[in-house]
Amino acid sequence: MSDISVLGIFVADISFSGPKIPSVGETILGNNYNVGPGGKGCNQAIAIARLGGKVNFISKIGKDAYGKLALDTLKKNSINTENIIQDEKSQTGVAGILVDQNSGENAINVIVGAPNSLKIREIDKQLNLIKNSKIFLTQLEVPKDVTLHFLKTAKENGCLTILNPAPASEITKEFYNNIDYFTPNETEAEFYTGIKITNEKEAKQAAVKLINLGIRKVIITLGEKGLFYFDGIEEIYIKACDVKAIDTTGAGDAFNGGLAFGLSKEKPIKECLELANKVAGISTMKLGAGDAMPFFKDI
Ligand code: ADP
Repeated sequence: MSDISVLGIFVADISFSGPKIPSVGETILGNNYNVGPGGKGCNQAIAIARLGGKVNFISKIGKDAYGKLALDTLKKNSINTENIIQDEKSQTGVAGILVDQNSGENAINVIVGAPNSLKIREIDKQLNLIKNSKIFLTQLEVPKDVTLHFLKTAKENGCLTILNPAPASEITKEFYNNIDYFTPNETEAEFYTGIKITNEKEAKQAAVKLINLGIRKVIITLGEKGLFYFDGIEEIYIKACDVKAIDTTGAGDAFNGGLAFGLSKEKPIKECLELANKVAGISTMKLGAGDAMPFFKDI
């Protein structure tokens, strides 16, 4: 039995590190490249597993070289793969990532591949696993009807639900009503609220707006500035860890993984946020996304 179920995608991250992110039409000479596991769902599942959490990953991949990378990665990290559908007709997803080696900033193009054709009926047999989990964590990388169906099922069965609303895209009121924790970054929070966030006051305004939409608890991650939490009564601001960031790809995923793990251990919210903030901070010190997730001993 897994404590946490994660619905999401796996993609092979192909990242190029160089002196800058090239502009349109520009060619630069970089100095490093890496092929490793990525996809928000898979990264979040790895973060949970490396902290010692029991995690079940629900996804769809192709029967190709990157599909093998997916299975190898999940097995290596002790993640339950019973719920991975391998489809001969689909390609496993890939992401092209350009990283600025000085700031750690990135630009990403994701080809979702197999999970784009994920259907509710294909994973309906996984419902029992979700029903028996304490936490259900997902993002917006698989088709929305599937995401909503599972959020609702999880909620109806007493799971705590976390939606990491990334990449930002329109969601209906029904989504909001089935979310316990909503974890946008600054850009995503602006997308959902129309409020540009440059400081704590604006983060609070955005969080209030989201609470009024029906979400129970809002956590806005603020990159190198840390995070802001609001549940309608309590507000918590935590500064980011003072680390030398070399690649922030997957920092948000590390954060969501850390949060889900903390909540599954029924820790108080402040402790969960501090843990997530540390997991995310440490993840920025390594190149890559899934491979950069820290282990419990690193924290
Ligand atoms: P995303 O990766 O989804 O864009 P953020 O950039 O907001 O999300 O980062 C998520 C979390 O990762 C932050 O709340 C913080 O805890 C951590 N983080 C991100 N960038 C840094 C950094 N430069 N130094 C330390 N921690 C960071």
